[in-house]
Amino acid sequence: MATLLWLEGGSCSGNTMSFLNAEEPTAVDLVTDFGIEVIWHPSLGMELGDGVQEIMRDCASGARPVDIFVYEGSVLMGPNGSGRYDMFANRPMKDWVSEISARAGVTVAVGDCSCWGGIPAVDPNPSDAIGLQYLKGNHGGFLGKDYRSTLGLPVVNIPGCPAHPDWITQIVVALAAGRAGDITLDEFQRPSTFFTTFTQTGCTRVQFYEYKQSTMSFGEGTRTGCLFYEFGCRGPMTHSPCNRILWNRQSSKTRAGHPCTGCTEPGYPHGDLEKGTVFKTQKVAGVIPKDEPAGMDAGSYMALAGLSRAVAPQWSKEDMFVV
Ligand code: SF4
Ligand code: SF4
Repeated sequence: MATLLWLEGGSCSGNTMSFLNAEEPTAVDLVTDFGIEVIWHPSLGMELGDGVQEIMRDCASGARPVDIFVYEGSVLMGPNGSGRYDMFANRPMKDWVSEISARAGVTVAVGDCSCWGGIPAVDPNPSDAIGLQYLKGNHGGFLGKDYRSTLGLPVVNIPGCPAHPDWITQIVVALAAGRAGDITLDEFQRPSTFFTTFTQTGCTRVQFYEYKQSTMSFGEGTRTGCLFYEFGCRGPMTHSPCNRILWNRQSSKTRAGHPCTGCTEPGYPHGDLEKGTVFKTQKVAGVIPKDEPAGMDAGSYMALAGLSRAVAPQWSKEDMFVV
């Protein structure tokens, strides 16, 4: 029976909320069907106070082996490197993370804050927040770039703000089943099975994207036009399966008329939330998107965009989902 310990640092608990909504498999399935022993979880653990301290001491010393160590939230280093902005079980959380990750079979970062710092690490980063093995796109993070768990793995990053619940539970099941070696990771240590395709893969607006037909005002309808040209959709350059593994098994941001904000990439939040950078396509010279679709340079993009717009058929300008 694999053991799992889940701790939470600097975060909003969004990944816990997401995890508890998992469907394939559910959080309960992890225990009843896959035999995982949840040592403790901040929302599910029954122990409080002294009881939690005892669990933490046992996990840190190795008296209680942790096969899967899940960490949600950024590691708060402030003030002045003391970690005292985030005290847990009588110590800075960062000290528990350091000791438990050194003994864990595998360490899993769930959500952007844990993967790369996320929202808490936005400039000026008052709590000195940092991800487990990255800060933004810079390799290193709290554990250092050479960190390996006792199974020989770097931190397995499951990003997202929050991560989709089934990305979390499916990776946990694979790890609990002893299939850590089958999980291939991409350049940012994300499981390739989820983070090779783009948010755009499966988006119902792709035909509008192809012919460069934009939604013209935010919230205008929910189905017509592409959100890339004016509203900052990062679907063409964000690795996620959000339009393949739907949220609540029925929708996604772009299907609901909301731009993808690129939350599975290490630059998130892109533009550090500065005024005018959210829900607005950043452009050079007023016309060229600052961030091109993955794999395209500005010249190729402009040539393709000009041609596509010129030949756009009438149907590409209309709502295709009339019932
Ligand atoms: S840019 Fe966004 S809205 Fe447009 S097709 Fe791609 S994912 Fe869908
Ligand atoms: S659609 Fe984009 S912003 Fe939304 S959850 Fe998916 S990757 Fe994140």
